[in-house]
Amino acid sequence: MSFDLSKLLRPHILTLAPYTSARDEYSGKLGIFLDANENPYGSITEQDFNRYPDPYQSDLKEKLSPIKQVPSDQIFLGNGSDEAIDLLFRAFCNPGKDNVILLPPTYGMYGVSAAINQVEIRNVSLTEDFQLQPKLILEAADQNTKIVFICSPNNPSGNSMRLEDMELILRNFPGLVVIDEAYVDFMEQESFAGRLDEFPNLLVIQTFSKAWGLASLRLGMAFGSKELIKVLNKIKPPYNISGLTQDTVLEAMEKFPKVQQMVQSILAERAQLRKDLNEIPQIERVYPSDANFLLVKVPHADQIYADLIARRIILRNRSKVTLCENCLRITVGTAEENQKFITELKAWFEKN
Ligand SMILES: *Cc1c(COP(=O)(O)O)cnc(C)c1O
Repeated sequence: MSFDLSKLLRPHILTLAPYTSARDEYSGKLGIFLDANENPYGSITEQDFNRYPDPYQSDLKEKLSPIKQVPSDQIFLGNGSDEAIDLLFRAFCNPGKDNVILLPPTYGMYGVSAAINQVEIRNVSLTEDFQLQPKLILEAADQNTKIVFICSPNNPSGNSMRLEDMELILRNFPGLVVIDEAYVDFMEQESFAGRLDEFPNLLVIQTFSKAWGLASLRLGMAFGSKELIKVLNKIKPPYNISGLTQDTVLEAMEKFPKVQQMVQSILAERAQLRKDLNEIPQIERVYPSDANFLLVKVPHADQIYADLIARRIILRNRSKVTLCENCLRITVGTAEENQKFITELKAWFEKN
């Protein structure tokens, strides 16, 4: 299917003149800077933060490019991946007219962003084993459908979507196909980030919040065609990534092997946690996971959830979510944390 980005965009976005920052006009690092109304003396903190940061995060993207095997000009960085999600709605979806397709059970932010932007949601549920229904997804699309959000590995179920199903959707969907790979580091499948040239309608989302352990810094990534990335850069707030975040992550990228080490530990703990849960006879099901959490079906999810909170063990109760009745989502913790959780869970079943 041919893909024309300019036809899919909201018309005013095409012609919009973006904010030009002081740093857009002169990007050199040396000079007497009297252009941005900054404080010339420095900051009240020990470290100086008085200068506005690079609006396009060029150093960061240059370092990230070889790690992700994506050219710098096909990388967008956002204040969390949630920023990229919101910008997509603002770029493509006319409020009160256009629609997007969501695939429940899925990540909550797509629906929240749709609602904030007053965009119709068309839900096409996953199958009982949390796989895509490509035929129904394609049938749900009409001339006002702009985006489908595929979360793989899926939050909250944990599984990856079948490759053939995602390819079928990429080849035939009339709008933008977002593949959210927040949990990419924990999965076996190849990332779609390596296939941007093959699919001009593809946007891959990843994040520093999970495997990299940088959730508090708020740094998300989006990979897509040059044209699409240009649009996101055009409409983002000029200084969306703080200087502190840029500097910290630049340094963090030197320590990439440590990320791989932590991922290996989390994968080992995930296997142990699965084993321990499966040994509890009352547990009805531990679902397959390619992520750093397990979805678990239990009797009386609401009660277990509440009673464990009282014991200061906090899980995510997903029992009100499509296809997730009586399900709890359990993040893989350290060996010690997981053990304490298992002990408390066993104690709960003995008492109830
Ligand atoms: C955690 C998560 C994210 C990450 O969001 P950030 O804003 O980057 O922290 C994105 N998508 C999914 C599906 C997630 O579970």
